[in-house]
Amino acid sequence: MVGVVWLRRSLREFDNTSIVEASKEFDKLVLFYCIDKDYFDEADLGYPRVRFWHDSLKELKKSLEEDGKKLIIRHGKPVEELGSILEETGGEKVFVNQDYSPYFRKLVKDVENSLGVDVECVKDSVMFEKEEITTNKGTPYKVYTYFMKKWFERSKRKPEKPEEYSTLENLDSDRIPSLSQLGFEKPDEMGWEWEAGRKTGLNLLEDFMEKIGSYHTGRDKPFVEATSKLSPHLKFGTVSIREAFWRAEEFRKKDGRVDEGVKTWQEELAWRDFYFQVLWNWPETVEKAFLEDFRGIEWEHNLDFFDRWRKGETGYPFIDAGMRQLRKTGWMHNRLRMAVTSFAAKDLFLDWREVHRFFSEKFVDAELSSMLGGIQWAYSIGTDAQPYFRIFNPVSQGEKHDPDGKFVKRFVPELKNVPKKYIHQPWKMPEKVQKESNCIIGSDYPEPIVEHSEQREKALELFKSCKD
Ligand SMILES: Cc1cc2nc3c(=O)[nH]c(=O)nc-3n(C[C@H](O)[C@H](O)[C@H](O)COP(=O)(O)OP(=O)(O)OC[C@H]3O[C@@H](n4cnc5c(N)ncnc54)[C@H](O)[C@@H]3O)c2cc1C
Repeated sequence: MVGVVWLRRSLREFDNTSIVEASKEFDKLVLFYCIDKDYFDEADLGYPRVRFWHDSLKELKKSLEEDGKKLIIRHGKPVEELGSILEETGGEKVFVNQDYSPYFRKLVKDVENSLGVDVECVKDSVMFEKEEITTNKGTPYKVYTYFMKKWFERSKRKPEKPEEYSTLENLDSDRIPSLSQLGFEKPDEMGWEWEAGRKTGLNLLEDFMEKIGSYHTGRDKPFVEATSKLSPHLKFGTVSIREAFWRAEEFRKKDGRVDEGVKTWQEELAWRDFYFQVLWNWPETVEKAFLEDFRGIEWEHNLDFFDRWRKGETGYPFIDAGMRQLRKTGWMHNRLRMAVTSFAAKDLFLDWREVHRFFSEKFVDAELSSMLGGIQWAYSIGTDAQPYFRIFNPVSQGEKHDPDGKFVKRFVPELKNVPKKYIHQPWKMPEKVQKESNCIIGSDYPEPIVEHSEQREKALELFKSCKD
């Protein structure tokens, strides 16, 4: 008897629920990975995410081989490829880790309908899913704080290793196409600093334990490396959510002084679960604002604004530094994600769906649920969103979170000699200071793209008119 494990986003063997569960029922497994042609055609993919996935998949294949196991790779349409695998092996049941995207939900239905096979979708990527944590009335949560309280109270699964199993060997496996065969080249402006794969993910988690004690005080300072940078590893499952949570917990038990930092970090893991359940329970938020009041907002399609925002040439240093960090590294600090998205919304009125497409291509950790959650939060159109009348000021955000301009200077070198006094509003530099700083506004660095206080008023009116 053979069980088929259909691997998708969890690129590890240890604590991979689909493998763990399959190994409890079957001694012989087919570990199957489909490089999904349809997904590559349809999704807004970009180099950082694809490269991270590619490197992680290669590492998984190799580490399984070192353990005498074979990963069967097929490049094609999942329903067809899974159909062939079942035919070739007589596989009786398919195990797959649950994914919460509309794409996956449809895919599983297609597999079941076309192949008539029993597909067991098991929870893996989150601690709590779907309707596991609900209000006392049994409805899904729209407010994070209440969700989070229950999230902490519930008992949580520990990481688990699969039972002994062997894999079927006598099956054809495709080569993993190269990145250029898949149509992805590293953008010139990008310096690749990510090491993908499980080994690095676990090291990163371990290294982060040195910093977790001060996470609550450092996480909003983009000029220090205070966060874990585990997001692409959690996205591709090279480290499991259970490993992350329990490693932090173990550390806290050993050293009570780190309590607040650990708790604050685990709250972020709960945010991640929260947004997964939002996506599951309100899948329409992929296309529509969660808040119906704001679905009718007519966002602008100003190509010049979009282009300058995308390139980090808005003339607001904090915003530009965030966008350039993204272009250069494929990742952006959370504080900046909030600030640049708020700027796109309430200063430039860019359509949030276009912002979403752009981020999906550029983020190494692009995760549909968290990204939609984060964007709709900043646009004040989502669950538990920032109220529309709270509008980030791009200057004071910089002054508060990067007081000396260290982060700005790292990513916007034109401003490296600008005195601290002007670093977040360089257009206020007198001519003499501009010359001394080698930074002439309008030629070395742009004038502000818009006047924030004017845009603020427009945004308030726009949202208010929809609410009324
Ligand atoms: C506009 C916007 C878009 C975002 N898009 C994504 C995305 O595509 N993918 C993504 O993983 N996160 C996204 N986030 C959330 C957050 O910015 C990143 O998870 C975080 O910056 C990743 O860095 P880190 O791993 O060092 O996080 P840490 O601070 O170390 O946090 C640990 C983990 O918790 C999770 N997490 C942290 N903050 C959040 C949050 N606000 N919401 C949900 N999960 C969180 C992540 O998995 C993260 O790796 C977005 C936030 C905003 C405002």
